Amino acid sequence: MSDAVIIIGAGPAGLTAALELARHSGIRPIVLEALDDVGGISRTIEYQGNRMDIGGHRFFSKSDWVMDWWRQMMPVAPDKDADGFSVMPREDRYLLIRPRLSRIYFLRRFFDYPISLSAKTMANLGPVRLVRIGISYVWASLFPRKPEKNLEDFFYNRFGGELYRTFFKDYTEKVWGVACRAISPAWGAQRIKGLSITKAILHAVKKNFSRGNANVAQKDTETSLIERFLYPKFGPGQMWRLAAEELRARGGEIHFGLKVVALTRENGRLVAIETEAADKSRRRWHGDWFISTMPVRDLVLAVDPPPPAPVRSVAEGLMYRDFITMGLLLKKLKPRPEGKPPLNLLPDTWIYIQEPDVKIGRLQIFNNWSPALVRDADTIWMGLEYFCQENDELWRMNDAEFASFAIAELARIDLIDPADALDSHVVRIPKAYPAYFGTYDQFDTLREFTDGIENLFLVGRNGMHRYNNQDHSMVTAKLAAEAILAGRTDKAAIWSVNVEDEYHEEKKA
Ligand SMILES: Cc1cc2nc3c(=O)[nH]c(=O)nc-3n(C[C@H](O)[C@H](O)[C@H](O)COP(=O)(O)OP(=O)(O)OC[C@H]3O[C@@H](n4cnc5c(N)ncnc54)[C@H](O)[C@@H]3O)c2cc1C
Repeated sequence: MSDAVIIIGAGPAGLTAALELARHSGIRPIVLEALDDVGGISRTIEYQGNRMDIGGHRFFSKSDWVMDWWRQMMPVAPDKDADGFSVMPREDRYLLIRPRLSRIYFLRRFFDYPISLSAKTMANLGPVRLVRIGISYVWASLFPRKPEKNLEDFFYNRFGGELYRTFFKDYTEKVWGVACRAISPAWGAQRIKGLSITKAILHAVKKNFSRGNANVAQKDTETSLIERFLYPKFGPGQMWRLAAEELRARGGEIHFGLKVVALTRENGRLVAIETEAADKSRRRWHGDWFISTMPVRDLVLAVDPPPPAPVRSVAEGLMYRDFITMGLLLKKLKPRPEGKPPLNLLPDTWIYIQEPDVKIGRLQIFNNWSPALVRDADTIWMGLEYFCQENDELWRMNDAEFASFAIAELARIDLIDPADALDSHVVRIPKAYPAYFGTYDQFDTLREFTDGIENLFLVGRNGMHRYNNQDHSMVTAKLAAEAILAGRTDKAAIWSVNVEDEYHEEKKA
């Protein structure tokens, strides 16, 4: 077997594929990356000594292979507090065990996320809304919408109409920029898996009896309810920089600033790809095998000779949601009963902003992910997250305009005083979310075409147009590496990741 393997993208999937090949064979993969850093969406951005995580990346997986892979790269910090969470290690190369607290901010109050039926929630909602929620939940249980045609039906069947309208509709539409009725129910199935009111209640009861359980895999817990997770001391990019280091030590190569812009196929195989650098210079790369994590839409439209018209039209119709995150350094938050003086630091890792009068979708408090992300312990370092479309009004604002807009929003919802803002850093992430609308329902047409290119493997998140987390992305990469090592060209196993496998195991359990 000839063994020149070219990998497009140095995110979690690309680096996992490269390392798996390098670890288990003499192959020295070549990774081509458009940006100047590794980690893709899971990279860590450094700004003036503070570190930003794009979105806040929990490291948890129901796959033992993934958990072991991470722990092999970075050991779990040895010292724990009484609840089993890590005490901050002095050394750098450690995974911390972190507690998750994420809440919903709505009506200028905090609600549990996922929404729980606690006394506090009931008090926040008031008796009239509660009765409406109860009746509509019972109604939806008795008369579910079948078949589930869209995301609205999915939420309605699990939570009832009133709870859906109160907690899911506005936020989901903020995230996706389209009505829930226009989104495939597959998104709900992947994003919140088997979550339902019954499971949320059972989870709340169980939680009260299981404090101090240090099992971070939480295999029997629904994905949306995961409460402790691993986290690299310096953010997710630390994991991927270590992976890149190991890859180079094993003879692999990573080339930065090279965007793949063309792929040449002959007789059902790719024979070469072409990259373009910032100065527009082009270079051709020949390989025997190709693994791609670049957006599948861009890939299909760059194949030469071009695919048949129906395949191109599905590719052209695939849609994405883009994302802006702004690091905001603050002297303090506004005082609230939950805030810890002197910074009034809230306990949350992240907060879903449900308020309809602002565009901000989520707020990360990086101090609570890892204190090592923050340069000065007497400041608060946050990530303000906005879901948008590339080139819309938000995307086009310059950084200074964006900063004043975002700071004014946080002040409007009573979380900060603008006078406490010290500095900010705006990061725009195109194609952060592959969308389950547009031509997504015809994806099989496109898949048939790419599967037919026998030495090409699509893996990862945008690579497969799948709402994959790091762990799913890694497993798809591992399977591609294994196929290449075995000389196999069948891709069915890769496409079944994050659809069936772990959750079949869960059902069996
Ligand atoms: C807001 C948010 C929160 C998230 N939270 C979590 C979480 O808590 N836990 C979790 O596990 N996952 C989380 N994820 C998902 C996680 O970020 C992704 O699953 C993971 O980064 C996907 O890895 P990947 O390698 O498939 O793709 P990417 O991370 O997108 O990497 C792809 C790489 O390919 C490069 N590339 C693209 N096009 C080209 C081209 N033409 N030529 C060369 N290079 C190219 C890109 O620059 C990038 O570096 C989150 C994602 C978002 C957006």
